[in-house]
Amino acid sequence: MKPAPFAYQRARSLDEAIALLAEKDAKLLAGGQSLIATLNMRLSSPALLIDINGIGGLDAIALKKGSVEIGALARHTQVERSDIIASHVPLFARAMPHIGHPAIRNRGTLGGSVAFADPAAELPACLLALDGEIEATGPKGTRSVKAQDFFKGLFETALAPQEVLTGVRVPAATRDTRTGFAELARRHGDYAMVGLAATARANGKELSDVRLAYFGVSDIPVRAKKAEAALAEGSIDAAFEALDLDPHDDVQATAKAKKHLAGVLLRRVAMQLTEVRL
Ligand code: FAD
Repeated sequence: MKPAPFAYQRARSLDEAIALLAEKDAKLLAGGQSLIATLNMRLSSPALLIDINGIGGLDAIALKKGSVEIGALARHTQVERSDIIASHVPLFARAMPHIGHPAIRNRGTLGGSVAFADPAAELPACLLALDGEIEATGPKGTRSVKAQDFFKGLFETALAPQEVLTGVRVPAATRDTRTGFAELARRHGDYAMVGLAATARANGKELSDVRLAYFGVSDIPVRAKKAEAALAEGSIDAAFEALDLDPHDDVQATAKAKKHLAGVLLRRVAMQLTEVRL
């Protein structure tokens, strides 16, 4: 199918993009890897597309005072290949190869993925596991929103209609940081049926501050807090028994299958978290 007719404008600055967003039925265009498909399927028919790819400075990846900042226009491939990410945000490094295929990662942006908020996407769950923050700029200025408050519902976020997601900030890993990531998809590159992103602090094999963020099991990424507590007490079996998720059926799998797969992933990721680093 072809998209409904739309106007196109290339914003040269953040201020211009924000001003253009005041127009009726306007939508931002970043990598286009989700938006163009929804236009072609006529699931969305905006009157105006505002291309933000020409806005300078929104694709930087930087280490700043114990945090890593990633600009919204950083492409998935750029994040995947970044030395800063490899050294300081190992959870993102583990997750990136699971996002679609290389052609999609070459165009798709981190900001587009977080703003789109697909319930089966990897990056929103990673942000929740990392206790990251999302930065948004609109007519009233710039604000930061914690990942736990950002994802509101199915494809729904805390972004106001005239706000642009400008980047994310996550804590840089320290020596005792451990991360784990696993997902199950029908084919590599497909959206996950169920996935799990996790972080913890480790003292030998003892874990604390465990954060387990599941995706593909609800409308938004969700933490399994009882399982987190059980893992911190040292028992993978107890965490498995305590797994407090309530998935629903979707096009990918039944709720029962998802619950089973979530348990499988829990055991795999728990092993990654307890691997002793030399
Ligand atoms: P766009 O498609 O340009 O925009 C998506 C939405 O976000 C639009 O509503 C747009 O207005 C809005 N938006 C974009 N940028 C901003 C911003 N800075 N501020 C506010 N709003 C903004 N993703 C996964 O996570 N996992 C997968 O396994 C996966 N598999 C895929 C497989 C296929 C075949 C395809 C086509 C895509 C897949 N994707 C997957 C999606 C991919 O990750 C996209 O890159 C991502 O969802 C959207 O990023 P984008 O830059 O392309 O955004």
